[in-house]
Amino acid sequence: MLMLVALPKGLNVDEWLASNASAFYNHVSLMYGSISEFCTISSCPTMKAWSTQIQWTNEKGRKRKCSGPQYADYAASIIQKILTDEDLVPTKQSKEFSKAFRPAIQKTFRFLFHLVGHMYTCHFRTIVNLELHPHLNTLYLHLLLFCAEFNLLDSKEMALSEDLTTALIHSSPPPRTSGSHARNT
Ligand SMILES: [Zn+2]
Repeated sequence: MLMLVALPKGLNVDEWLASNASAFYNHVSLMYGSISEFCTISSCPTMKAWSTQIQWTNEKGRKRKCSGPQYADYAASIIQKILTDEDLVPTKQSKEFSKAFRPAIQKTFRFLFHLVGHMYTCHFRTIVNLELHPHLNTLYLHLLLFCAEFNLLDSKEMALSEDLTTALIHSSPPPRTSGSHARNT
């Protein structure tokens, strides 16, 4: 996992952040899509993630409460706007990344972290019933290690899920022995 997050040799770091942001967004959207029918205004009247209640900050900087599905909608539209904005994420080689790129990409990862947190906090039972929890755990750990490597999340935010991170890092993968495989086949 650490090898997966490391910047490949010779690649521009902003390019790496942008392409990973896009990939993580797709993975988080897929995962959220699998439980979105259970994430409604009545099941999630407030946007909970980890032990905290997340408020939405609008363009004027005003914070207000919002439901889980509203937050997911707002976050998706802003992330799409960021990732398709040619001034923020240039796709032409001649164009450089601007100073506005890093804050925008940090915002993107903060939204993704909150959405993953919401799935753990409010929809984990459904995810287990769908047998998607190994995917969610892998996605979470990959996302967290990526954010840690490139300082994309505030340390206070990362502390919210410290117990989960510790548990996942220390949980060993199931033993794979050729002998048992042979016996099963
Ligand atoms: Zn929800």
